[in-house]
Amino acid sequence: MSATSLDQIVSLCKQRGFVFPGSEIYGGLANTWDYGPIGVELKNNVKKFWWDFWVRNRDDIVGVDASILMNPKVWEASGHVSNFADPLVDCKACKKRFRGDKLLEEKLGVEEIAGIALVDVTPKLLKEKIPCPDCGKCEWAEAKQFNLMFKTQQGVTEDSEREIYMRPETAQGIFVNFKNVLNSTRKRLPFGIAQIGKAFRNEITPGNFTFRTREFEQMEVEYFCAEKDWQKIYPELEKASWDFFKKLGIDEKNLRWRQHREDELSHYSKLTKDIEYKFPWGWGELQGLAYRTDFDLKQHQKFSGESLEYLDTETNEKFTPHCIEPSFGCDRTVLTVLLDAFCEDDVNGEKRTVMKFAPEIAPIKVAVLPLSRKEKLTKKAREIFDILRMEFRAEFDETQSIGKRYRRQDEIGTPLCVTVDFGTIGEDNSQSEKGYVTLRDRDSLKQEEVEIKKLPDLIRAKLKI
Ligand code: ATP
Repeated sequence: MSATSLDQIVSLCKQRGFVFPGSEIYGGLANTWDYGPIGVELKNNVKKFWWDFWVRNRDDIVGVDASILMNPKVWEASGHVSNFADPLVDCKACKKRFRGDKLLEEKLGVEEIAGIALVDVTPKLLKEKIPCPDCGKCEWAEAKQFNLMFKTQQGVTEDSEREIYMRPETAQGIFVNFKNVLNSTRKRLPFGIAQIGKAFRNEITPGNFTFRTREFEQMEVEYFCAEKDWQKIYPELEKASWDFFKKLGIDEKNLRWRQHREDELSHYSKLTKDIEYKFPWGWGELQGLAYRTDFDLKQHQKFSGESLEYLDTETNEKFTPHCIEPSFGCDRTVLTVLLDAFCEDDVNGEKRTVMKFAPEIAPIKVAVLPLSRKEKLTKKAREIFDILRMEFRAEFDETQSIGKRYRRQDEIGTPLCVTVDFGTIGEDNSQSEKGYVTLRDRDSLKQEEVEIKKLPDLIRAKLKI
């Protein structure tokens, strides 16, 4: 089962320490979110899972970590200065601003609206009688293009200040390093360069929790090849992208591919397909797979004057490589994982909320819980915890009743709990056997008695890690 309403997730996230509203004690800053102690573990695990999948377990992809601040010429070359804009519409009645295409999309669906021309946005809003989400009137001004890049200044004195941009995507940090990577790794085509990092877009209408924010993280691969090979490689990356979400534990029933229509394609792309997830408000993009041709490297050659050509040593042919880009939103992936893992079941007549994360990404793998706070028990439980934490991300919890502690571990998605009782220390033979603990499984709720020395092997086997 997955969450049916976003509110369920937002409130669980706050209560259990996944995600908090940004700058909350100052009344917040709209649409900013901070990952809490459990959320940061989950996000780090998603990033590691992605990196292992795309970089560590493949011979043909290497990584970089480029700067957020780049030479402003990069954004002229990439087309962001002239093209990176969304249609902004003002409500004439209340003066609030919205993204016109998204208002239309909410009513008519993404397929109907994708690629709509700027001049058609306002007439369509009026024809469909779409009201202002804020004041309810239908009085729209002419749509305008609004560039989404954040500007800032670099330099210590006013006359040396230079206007620069916060990067709106991680991809360009890869393209500008193409030659450096090629020369330092001696990779031969086809090969990819991967990067995880922050991107900034001054979105007109952010919202839906972490789905659309102005600061977010991307996980991208730029996969370079000879032009003749792109049609063979594209389906391979398509399959790998789908497999990534499957392995991450997302229910395939909630995923679909959507191909961009010709009039919807970005200026650099000849073919783009998105993986979409069925969010509580409808289908939304999770990842894009774009064939970007040789557009980016050619543009950077033109603007920088540096050759970014590749020499095929077998044929002695020199050419500019083409590129296919699988581009994932990290925060959107984490949101998807949260929504998809959410489950409610009935345990002895009581409702239980449980996050069924795949073991690899569960924030805490195992919790060690002494049955009570008696010192003899907590001492033994600590000893066990100290052994387990060397290998697994573990948590020790001795507060509140055991029932409440199980409930908390279910809600943060901990796959296994180890309970230490008086039997464990040989003081109550109605409980565990001496030297044994109880191992509780989050999903099946099965409890089994396990000898302490066999715990690490059994936990490893159960988590399959
Ligand atoms: P959208 O149509 O939702 O605005 P996009 O097509 O502009 O997305 P891309 O430029 O392809 O997005 O970026 C790649 C990925 O980065 C997206 O698939 C998405 O997961 C993520 N992403 C893009 N914009 C945002 C944002 N404002 N907040 C969070 N994630 C984002």
